[in-house]
Amino acid sequence: IIYADYSASTPPHPEVIRTMTEVMERIYANPSSIHELGGQADQLVLRARSVVAQALHVQPQEVIFTSGATESNNMAIFGVVREAMRLAAAGNPVHAIVSAVEHPSVYACYEQLKLEGVEVSIAPVDNNGRVDLKQLEQLIKPHTVILSVMHVNNETGAVQPLREIGQLVARYPKLVFHVDGVQGLGKLPVELADWNAHLYSLSGHKIHGPKGMGILVKRGNLKLTPLIHGGVQEFGLRAGTSNVPGILAMSKAVRMAVEAQAKDEEKLLLLNERMLKHIHEIPELVLNSPICPLGAPHILNASFPGMKAEVAVHAMEEQGVILSTQSACSSKLHKPSRVLLAQTHNERVAASGLRISMDASMTIEQIDRIGSALKETVERLKPLVQRER
Ligand code: PLP
Repeated sequence: IIYADYSASTPPHPEVIRTMTEVMERIYANPSSIHELGGQADQLVLRARSVVAQALHVQPQEVIFTSGATESNNMAIFGVVREAMRLAAAGNPVHAIVSAVEHPSVYACYEQLKLEGVEVSIAPVDNNGRVDLKQLEQLIKPHTVILSVMHVNNETGAVQPLREIGQLVARYPKLVFHVDGVQGLGKLPVELADWNAHLYSLSGHKIHGPKGMGILVKRGNLKLTPLIHGGVQEFGLRAGTSNVPGILAMSKAVRMAVEAQAKDEEKLLLLNERMLKHIHEIPELVLNSPICPLGAPHILNASFPGMKAEVAVHAMEEQGVILSTQSACSSKLHKPSRVLLAQTHNERVAASGLRISMDASMTIEQIDRIGSALKETVERLKPLVQRER
């Protein structure tokens, strides 16, 4: 079997597994306890926070450990908006902007805020799936409190123009810039200061780390209203006993991802080029991913218009290749991809997107086997393609 669904999840690195088991076995005391054993656990958490801070060029007190990027995104978005609503004079509106191509864990927060009466605008993307800066600028209002734009799109690999967006954001001192960095870490350089990003979310299981672990980087003295109430863990932003094994394993995964980034990017570029060659050899396929550097090297998305993506994914699986349709969180909804729709405005293309997501551990031979399987699948399914009505 060839696994090419690394954007959905990655196998944990052996060192991550070792850390998890060792800490689970040895460091079981509660890091909030005041006794010696609690102190030892607390020291380890402090050390893990410093490791992450160093890797991301931020301060340790800017690193908040969470249960995953979904929680980080919720903490960021609701945290900013609720804080702004608390401070706004009664009746004053609060406005928020989200890009059209965000992951459901971001997009659904804005849909919820809308239901709660917050004014929400959606920033459109161009035909490369990248936020249109001119249109974005027109959406910013004096009472806009937050803007969410991801680093790398999880369906197409489109890399957002974060530096340019950050320059725009800098002109609005009250505007908070939130970046979902899940698919970018370890694949592309991360420049939080350069992007002028105030909030940055990460997930453990996308970087060979543990599932159920995430990070929210909160830069400077930005105030968030917490979502989870109780104890004072994570600077009072996330009550609940710290997941010590998860935190230590997560910090390892972040460090290793950042250390390997340049080398992995180089390798992924080779795999990307090879995979692109195969895609281009199949005339029935429409490429949805922008070419590097507008796209990230590890994700390639192509549509087989008229063929339901699920059918093609299962046909590929029969040939021993594991791919996916859209984000794992949305794939069971069996609806055209919101991301591809925003980019292509074409339902047939949006309903038939296949995502190939690669890892630097893959070989050219594996990419060639995916290419052959893709050719065979398209040939097999061609007679079933629904003609445009
Ligand atoms: N953001 C993006 C871009 C993702 O790809 C994912 C994972 O699917 C998430 C957020 C959610 O991450 P987690 O599974 O850690 O909640």
